Amino acid sequence: MSKSFYNHIDHEIEQILNDDLYKNERFINSPQQTAIKLKNGKEVMNFCANDYLGLANNKEIKDAAINSIQEDGFGMASVRFICGTNDLHRKLEEKLSSFLGFDDCILYVACFDANGGLFEPLFGAEDAIISDSLNHASIIDGIRLCKAKRYRYQHSDMKDLEKCLQQADSDSANHKVIVSDGVFSMDGTYAKLDKIVELAEKYNALIMLDDCHATGFVGENGRGTAEYFGLEGKIDILTGTLGKALGGASGGFICAKENVIKLLKQRSRPYLFSNALSPSIVSASLKALEIVKNEPERRERIKENTAYFRDSIKSLGFEVKGDMHPITPVMLGDAKKAQEMSKMLLEEGLYAIGFFYPVVPKGEARIRLQITSEHTKQQLDQAIEIFDKVGKELNII
Ligand SMILES: *Cc1c(COP(=O)(O)O)cnc(C)c1O
Repeated sequence: MSKSFYNHIDHEIEQILNDDLYKNERFINSPQQTAIKLKNGKEVMNFCANDYLGLANNKEIKDAAINSIQEDGFGMASVRFICGTNDLHRKLEEKLSSFLGFDDCILYVACFDANGGLFEPLFGAEDAIISDSLNHASIIDGIRLCKAKRYRYQHSDMKDLEKCLQQADSDSANHKVIVSDGVFSMDGTYAKLDKIVELAEKYNALIMLDDCHATGFVGENGRGTAEYFGLEGKIDILTGTLGKALGGASGGFICAKENVIKLLKQRSRPYLFSNALSPSIVSASLKALEIVKNEPERRERIKENTAYFRDSIKSLGFEVKGDMHPITPVMLGDAKKAQEMSKMLLEEGLYAIGFFYPVVPKGEARIRLQITSEHTKQQLDQAIEIFDKVGKELNII
């Protein structure tokens, strides 16, 4: 027992508190949906879930999970290669890869694990990984675990990406891979995929894309960023999550060529040394994929809601970042202001969280709103009214 260690931890926490960067978790006492109940029983509108298609509390999906628990049991109590694979796992891997236009797929318990286990088995010391500076934490960690040479380009700066590709060539890199989020989750912006594909072809590099904030609802058929850009078939490795649009429970996956998936199943550490995804989540995700295919109207609604909401918030005078994506960051700058605004929004009945350092750069604090297909026009209008009121009270607009 080292007293100085615990003192050090106390000091760190104090520092976070003093910097106004301490994150207090709120409790919600209802299923995840556009109207949720707080611990104190108050009902508020929810504008910050990743439940893009409103499937987190969908009856068909819940029934699929419940039936699967009855038929397939609760847990696998094994990793996949010992006795943790049943037909359902394979079926979901096949459905995901055929839906997204890839040869094959490997499931993980989270996309964090997929990104964490992706690089080390595939890229060695002779290879080059060229990564966008704003990529998700799980990508950054995954790259750290691998021995390849690392190159980081300024966020979405295609000149800088080209420089990195040239540098990798002059460093005699064997294989090169460009790594990017498909959609940048703090900003609601798309990767410049058209340009990335062009550069990948010019410099003979592979492309790895993390489409967590796109799979299921971006693109005409919900096949994600590549479909949105009309560049399907140009991505070598795609990672995604089951924890956002596809039901929102948990689970992640990698899609790629058959031999890549084969090797990952032999060598990827979070796959080899971690439990198999529970059958109920797998069954529910199969149902979610069916809904994505059969109910395109959800994608229509989210598109309309996004355009309406973004335009309205902007016309109130707020600075709104990002492209036409349901992620709608309202920029405030100061962390304290973001926390204060979030608190006031909640008092008015709107649940939305302030984001600040370290999840976004210092001085770029914001309220990040997320629109879903299930927000009603009335909810959107009410939220816009609340933003108007609170924004004026805080002298932001
Ligand atoms: C959410 C997210 C992840 C992590 O996904 P989980 O399945 O929740 O672990 C990875 N990458 C990006 C870009 C994300 O937005």
